Amino acid sequence: MFKLRYYLFSLLVPALFFACQENTNSSQSESKTTQTKEIEEQPYAIVIHGGAGAMQRGMMSDSLENAYKATLEKAIKTGYKVIEDGGEAIDAVTSAINILEDSPLFNAGKGAVLTHDGTNELDASIMVGKNKDAGAIAGVKRVKNPILLAKAVMENSPHVLLSGAGAEEFAEEQEIELVDPSYFYTEERKRALDKVQQNEVTPNNSSAFVDMDLSDYKFGTVGCVALDKDGNIVAGTSTGGMTNKRWNRIGDSPIIGAGTYADNETCGISATGWGEFFIRGVVAHDIAARMRYGKASLADAAKEVIQKNIPEMGGDGGIIAIDKEGNIVMEFNTDGMFRASIDKNGEMQVAIYEE
Ligand code: ASP
Repeated sequence: MFKLRYYLFSLLVPALFFACQENTNSSQSESKTTQTKEIEEQPYAIVIHGGAGAMQRGMMSDSLENAYKATLEKAIKTGYKVIEDGGEAIDAVTSAINILEDSPLFNAGKGAVLTHDGTNELDASIMVGKNKDAGAIAGVKRVKNPILLAKAVMENSPHVLLSGAGAEEFAEEQEIELVDPSYFYTEERKRALDKVQQNEVTPNNSSAFVDMDLSDYKFGTVGCVALDKDGNIVAGTSTGGMTNKRWNRIGDSPIIGAGTYADNETCGISATGWGEFFIRGVVAHDIAARMRYGKASLADAAKEVIQKNIPEMGGDGGIIAIDKEGNIVMEFNTDGMFRASIDKNGEMQVAIYEE
């Protein structure tokens, strides 16, 4: 009897062992297949803008146009490489924006537009769609790459938005690169300021801002939205604001929900345009909200807000965005918008004017 039991037991143990092994192997290979599938199916893509405005074909020399396109191409390729190599969307966004901030062509970092007093005041923001973390800075005068300070605010402070001298004190603590304010100055922006100020109806008077056509006083804010291989969406925006701005005016670019927004469930957005209207229209969040609550597509939501709501209010500008499926939208109601993208199929587009 004992022998028989022993015999049965010795048969049962290896049988059970192999059954378990088999089970583990098959569930392992099953999860491996799902994982591989997920990785294969997770799209990644990136889009940037270099500002929307009244730029018409023929207004710029060919060499200037080529310089804009070359810088946009460099920025989009740099950002794309980060996510292509499996890096995080946040690094793609900051590295692409850094290139645009360092170029004097764009209204961000070096080459930022001048305030009424001929100084530079820089704004930036960044948002991560995974956990809706956000950081922003406004009115800084010495921070070489404002987007990096916005990122530091998000990562290393308990706050979302810092401004002015306090933001620069934080930058020093964070060992963010500071430069002499003259670093940002360009002759081109001085000429633009002079032109604007010559046209002022009543200089040194607030009514001048009401009477002026401000629509041409902004060019070249920069922004980037990236979706990485983990399905995370990050959006960032950096700007010098609007030419001739006064009284520490702050636009939409550092305002989360207006100039920048990211939510992995819907999309990431960076805006450019007449900031006052984008703040009042809560543009970036409005587009995401239409997707979340109204189940609109990104394309429809962006079109409604940019082609209808903002012009109806009297504003102008555009947005770039990516949804969670990797669809890219570049919508603007101005003559042009400096922009570039590399979509989920790896196809690159660099453009300035309306197609
Ligand atoms: N939106 C920016 C601002 O109002 C300017 C721009 O995008 O050109 O500060």
